[in-house]
Amino acid sequence: MFSDVDISRIADTFELKYTEKNSDFLLFETLGGGFARQRDAAIPLVEAGQILDALNRGAERLEEYEGWVDPERGIVEFEIRMQRLGVMRRATIDQFTFESHPCAHTHLYSPPDAVVANRYHHVFRVVSPDGSVCIEISPNSPLSVPLVPLDEGRGSRTANTLKVFFGGAASKVELAHRAIGFANSFLFELNARNGTPYALKPRLQAHVRLRRAPSVSHTVRFPKARVPQHVAALFAMASDARGGHTSSFLAYYQILEHYLPAAHKRDSVRKVRRILRSLDFDEGKDSSILKVLNSVDRTHGASEGEQLRTLIEECIPEDKLREFFGLDHGGHFGKRGPISGVVAIHLNSGESLGSQVAKRVYALRNRIVHAKDDVRYAEASVLLPGGHEDVRLYPDVELLRVLAVEAIVDNQ
Ligand SMILES: [Zn+2]
Repeated sequence: MFSDVDISRIADTFELKYTEKNSDFLLFETLGGGFARQRDAAIPLVEAGQILDALNRGAERLEEYEGWVDPERGIVEFEIRMQRLGVMRRATIDQFTFESHPCAHTHLYSPPDAVVANRYHHVFRVVSPDGSVCIEISPNSPLSVPLVPLDEGRGSRTANTLKVFFGGAASKVELAHRAIGFANSFLFELNARNGTPYALKPRLQAHVRLRRAPSVSHTVRFPKARVPQHVAALFAMASDARGGHTSSFLAYYQILEHYLPAAHKRDSVRKVRRILRSLDFDEGKDSSILKVLNSVDRTHGASEGEQLRTLIEECIPEDKLREFFGLDHGGHFGKRGPISGVVAIHLNSGESLGSQVAKRVYALRNRIVHAKDDVRYAEASVLLPGGHEDVRLYPDVELLRVLAVEAIVDNQ
């Protein structure tokens, strides 16, 4: 039923490695055995056929979000995530009515609900006044969420997706662009007006994710590290990828900020002590006293960027940084990396790794919070959550994680 070429097209589309076929499923394992997705996954044969048909008629996965653009059918489908939906909200949703007009599409589901594979799904659909565009939340097509974890047995998993239906043919790029606009407007109003928060899922770059290979200990011990309460809360928040990479980045950055004053103070004291202990220090000489004053002035005037450098150079061992940058990050930290407006990291430059890392991290932080008052970064554009750079920020988030862990461990 499926040729090798067919199967490898499906595998490539979902960045999977094909293993075998049984009577009901094509079986895959995830490339590199990463833990972010199911280790083994299956696509039911029926759905594999539908996916192949879609690929043959020119459907493609979206670049920025989990989802598909199907130009021949004029449909763009997004995977979505429901945020905090409790029993109360279900009751609210049951009261919804939907703006409807006649349209020319074929819709498989209609509001208010549908039952698929014994699971209840609510169905939303609104139609533009001229009937040309429909925006719908309904059970997924075979293209989205196609992977069934093997241990769930037969039957595919269903999830609601957001679909935008257009009329007439258009290019993939144009369809995707317009659909993202409609999806953002619809989800914003659904959240702001109807109290029902959904979010699109940014597309995770599976191949980047899987390269991460930080050493993980296999012994679970009685804890020794003391962690201030809000640092612990930030660390937990940063590990939750649901807010996107920029929010993880900022949570780790706030941990570093927590330790900036202490590191700065230690550094100031050390510098003054070094002057006082130098062999030519003479308290009777103005020039000696001025050396102390200058040192104090300099450290008092240190910017946040300079303080960050002090923290990194003081708390994060150089070999930890070398180990991290020694991993294969797919050129992320190099000159041609995907994040603009930040310095590339060179293992063998004359500048210390700590200093390079501090510059990169501080520039990124400024691009995310858009510190307009800092003239040095006035030229760099904002790095937006959910944007194409946010999606590719993962290795920098991993770097921040290393920095945060070392800063916590060092400040015991
Ligand atoms: Zn319609």
